[in-house]
Amino acid sequence: MPSLAPRPDLESLPKYVPGRTILGAIKLASNEVPGGPLPSVRAAITDAMGDVNRYPDSGSQALRERLAADLDVPIDRLAVGCGSVSLCQQLIQAVCGPGDEAMFAWRSFEAYPIVTQVAHAVGVKIPLTDGYGLDLDAMLAAITDRTKLIFVCNPNNPTGTVLHRDEIERFIEAVPEHVLVVLDEAYKEFVTDSEVPDGVEFTRTHNNVAVLRTFSKAYGLAGLRIGYAVASAPIAEALRQVYVAFSVNAIAQVAAIASLDAADELLERCQEIITERERVRNSLVDMGYDIPPTQANFVWFPLGERTVAFSEHMLDRKLIVRPFPGDGARVTIGTPEENDLFLAAAREFLS
Ligand code: PMP
Repeated sequence: MPSLAPRPDLESLPKYVPGRTILGAIKLASNEVPGGPLPSVRAAITDAMGDVNRYPDSGSQALRERLAADLDVPIDRLAVGCGSVSLCQQLIQAVCGPGDEAMFAWRSFEAYPIVTQVAHAVGVKIPLTDGYGLDLDAMLAAITDRTKLIFVCNPNNPTGTVLHRDEIERFIEAVPEHVLVVLDEAYKEFVTDSEVPDGVEFTRTHNNVAVLRTFSKAYGLAGLRIGYAVASAPIAEALRQVYVAFSVNAIAQVAAIASLDAADELLERCQEIITERERVRNSLVDMGYDIPPTQANFVWFPLGERTVAFSEHMLDRKLIVRPFPGDGARVTIGTPEENDLFLAAAREFLS
């Protein structure tokens, strides 16, 4: 009799290593914003608690209506998911069959290879350029008959680098129409470079473009798990088909709408992070670190074999950063006080 066992290929599945949380330590590991919910968002969350005996609206109708109005896209081009990481998985499930290829830069968001392999698709990793950016020409050259989806993370996690409008335009024009280009814009709200496009614009003219956004970063709702996709109507419909029923909870839906109501205030808060990001990067560059220019709420240290020593050094000082052993460390921008502590520790690491 065969015994019950998990799929054998799960043994080779890369692990998603979440940023650690240690009591009393400063967490600069998961690209969260430091501020908690605004009073108006907190009040909406508290109100929504009264209805938790009921299932949530599985179609997130109210939120989709709101996003449709804000973004000026028809509601049938929107899908809401349990964080945009869930939408990454849903997109692969929606377009890839077993053996089909999903392409992404490497290094990029670590969930891409995981959701790809879980769906029995094949991940194709394209190395970053020398400047730690996405190599779109190499991606184009790697497209095969099996390529179904390409993740383009802009700004790229974990390097913070960006692609400009003309680069993305040329890329989308060159990608065959049967390949879905997914512009992952998780860090969009931290972008100040005016050459970085709003990906939603491409979805108006190209059926094979989808955009992912999240409420976890600038909107400060990481713990509630909610994000959305803008795509063509058939792809958005497919996303809703593969959605795990009720997985976006009612409180998250209400909090997302309240956050959109408070968008001005929340985006104002991001300004401080942007200012701090520039201060932190400039200080690190002055110290002699190689830090690529970043448009996100984190900085990338391409430290190679020194990565683990760096993250251990930080941990000894109660600072949690995010190591990718052998490659580099990503450090989230925190409050000015947290950043000062981190900068002092970074200076010490060099001595
Ligand atoms: N895309 C990118 C590039 C990310 O960095 C993250 C979070 N680390 C996500 C998507 C997922 O965010 P969430 O699931 O919290 O919406």
